[in-house]
Amino acid sequence: MKNNNIKIFLAAPRGFCAGVDRAIEIVKRSIKKYGAPVYVRHQIVHNKHVVENLKKIGAVFVEEISKIKDKSRPVIFSAHGVPKSVPREALNKKIEFVDATCPLVSKVHREAENLNKKGVHVLLIGHQNHPEVIGTMGQLPDGEIELIENVEDAKKHKNISGKNLAYVTQTTLSVDDTFEIIKILKEKYPNIYEPKKEDICYATTNRQAAVKKIAKYCDMFFVIGSSNSSNSLRLVEVATSAGCPSSELIHSASAIPFERIAKCKTIGISSGASAPEILVQNFIDEIKKKFNVEVDEVEIIKENITFKVPGKLN
Ligand code: SF4
Repeated sequence: MKNNNIKIFLAAPRGFCAGVDRAIEIVKRSIKKYGAPVYVRHQIVHNKHVVENLKKIGAVFVEEISKIKDKSRPVIFSAHGVPKSVPREALNKKIEFVDATCPLVSKVHREAENLNKKGVHVLLIGHQNHPEVIGTMGQLPDGEIELIENVEDAKKHKNISGKNLAYVTQTTLSVDDTFEIIKILKEKYPNIYEPKKEDICYATTNRQAAVKKIAKYCDMFFVIGSSNSSNSLRLVEVATSAGCPSSELIHSASAIPFERIAKCKTIGISSGASAPEILVQNFIDEIKKKFNVEVDEVEIIKENITFKVPGKLN
């Protein structure tokens, strides 16, 4: 018998963004066009479930071009983007490639490149070792772009380049944390160039705003996503700072902490931009098996953005 009543606040928008949808579609269409196997450099998007499903239809994931065994097969670059050295290496090795870099990441690449052409020194706000950051740093020659990871980096930064400065950012950062870093940079360097349009993407911004709206009403908050997904991790931080200290990342319905949920009246759920909706629905279904559940979806904005796949896959 179910003896607990639990209310679920379900954040919307959540889950797949236009860049992730496009990247997955690119892999599927490439397999259709070229036949299997098709190589994918790095996880196409940071979600285990997505990667495993694509493996089943013929995607082979490698971390570097040098790991491609059959050079007659095409390779797809992941949604996070790649340094310039990667397409160069594929061209040198005569490996055909399809670029699934999200257009909003490519926009940041072009921004950095244009600033560099104008002789401006670029500061990239982002997290070290994240593939997107490696890709953006790799658009410019060594030493022409510098990483700022946090408020401390911004405070201690010295402009030894002697050039004008500009900043660009990773697309999946915390909106609030990035605001603080930018504030410090602008105080130090009042003439620093800013991106014309925000680099943190619409999907990151909307998912964080939706979580912010409901987290304070929740006894626990769950973000469905993988542990290497930057935007999912940021959603956990946002839920925590918005008033739900018991916020955590969960990769699938197999890891649900039922005993702790039993002590809650209200829980919140969202999912990262690379997490499929089926994982959210499975999670809710499992909770429904044990508790009396009322689901209230709180939608803060409707998203209708889509990105086209490269013309050669049409
Ligand atoms: S999170 Fe934003 S930048 Fe990343 S793939 Fe999605 S839309 Fe593109």
